[in-house]
Formats: sequence, structure tokens, C-alpha cells
Amino acid sequence: MAYGYSHASWSQAYLEDVSNSTFKQIEKMIHSTFDPCRVGRGRDAEDLDHCDISVNDIQRVKNRKIFREYCDFRDELKEKTCDGDNVEEIEDFPQKVWSFKKSRRHVDLNEIYLFHGTSEDSANMIINEGFDTGITNPRNLYGRGIYFAEEFTKADQYTDDRDDRDPHGTELTLLLCKVLMGNAFMCGKYDAEKWKQPPCMKCDRSKCRHGWKHRYDSVLGSGHGMLFREFVVYDGRQVFPEFIIKYERLGGWEPLHEYE
Ligand SMILES: [Zn+2]
Repeated sequence: MAYGYSHASWSQAYLEDVSNSTFKQIEKMIHSTFDPCRVGRGRDAEDLDHCDISVNDIQRVKNRKIFREYCDFRDELKEKTCDGDNVEEIEDFPQKVWSFKKSRRHVDLNEIYLFHGTSEDSANMIINEGFDTGITNPRNLYGRGIYFAEEFTKADQYTDDRDDRDPHGTELTLLLCKVLMGNAFMCGKYDAEKWKQPPCMKCDRSKCRHGWKHRYDSVLGSGHGMLFREFVVYDGRQVFPEFIIKYERLGGWEPLHEYE
């Protein structure tokens, strides 16, 4: 089965079924990072009240063009950081996220699989064309980046329209992406800026005279007032959208609003 545009055969994505073992690993990753107690909490989670998830299908994305760009970026990052020597390790990932394909990841570059929730149409565009920072919302908390989550509960908030939620049982689409976080600028909610690129490691500013070699590679939002950590990159080449997941939301209970 292949999605894509017939005129762009070189960049077209092909999908293939994952092995049983990969399916099970990803399914475990999803269930272990799905927390019904945090469903419906926060502005982006409005009107969500499901208490379970069912994973229907997982396919691997094959896209030579996007993968090549990703590998080129990884080589640049390796060079920039002297083979990862200068990269500070990001810690505290959920166990199943941390262990997923660990031996094949460039752990020294903070390469990690993270969830990206988006509409089915956007997901199909991304697997064909890659991520485009040009169309991201500049008003987002950390600016014009591409946002990822280590927890399914968080990514799940963005797979349908917040103002017009799909009923339980609707099939939704979500991506599991390989992301090169490199050196991440740690930033709490209250220090966030509307960045177009990560700030400078020397002066923490986003506009300065220090060259690109001195820039952080990503932003990691966490800290007081945040229910979930946010992983943000500002260059589409830092991401390979490797798995496309079809799932549905199940069950429900009384809204949690009264406890807020
Ligand atoms: Zn600087």
C-alpha cells in the first residue's frame, strides 16, 4: 500500500507492515505512556474524556529522500559535536521509550523516538514531504518549531480538532518519529520565547553574532506548571517519521473538570 503523489515518485513514501515484535514493542510504548488520569487536563486536551486506547495498525514509512536528509543532518551534528562528546544527555525518558531500538540509536546525539500527534492529512503530507517548519504556528509556546511528546497522552491531544472532537471509536493517526535532539536548551514554561531557531549556547539569545556551531540543536520544555515535557526542533531534517500508527480512543468517564 502506498500513499503519495504520482508525480513525485522519488520522494514518495511507501508503507510496509512492521514485524510482530516491533508492533508489540510500540504498542507497549503507547500503553505505558498513556495515562487516563491526565486525559482532558490542560488547554490542548479540552473535551477529551477517554480512558483507554486501542492500537489498530502500525506501518513503517519508507521514504528515501527524507531519510537521506536525516542522515546528512546526523552527520553534520556528529561533526559539530565532535561525535557527540559535547552533548549533554537528556534523562528521565519513560522506560519503554528509552529502551525502544536503543542499540540502533545514536544515544550520544540524543537521538530518540518521540510521538507527533497531527491530523490524518498532515501525517500523510509529512511522510511524503517531511516536516516543514514554514507552516508551523509561530504563536506556539516555544515558537516556530516542530513539537514532539514522549508520552502518548500528550500527542493524542493533537490528532483531531480541539474544537470539534471526533467521537470515541474514530480511527485516528499519529506518527512515531526518530528525532535528533542533540544539545537541548532546557526551558521552563515561563522563560519560553517564540523562537524560529534554538538559542545560542554562549549567550542564550536567539539573535546574536555567534555562529550556528554555537547554537543549541533543540529546545526541551519542562518544569513548573507543565504536565508534560515538550521536545521541539526547528529544522525538519532533524526528524524521520518512521512509523505511522492508527488507533482509536475508547471508553469514557465523567469529565475531570471538577477536580481542577
Ligand atoms: Zn550568542
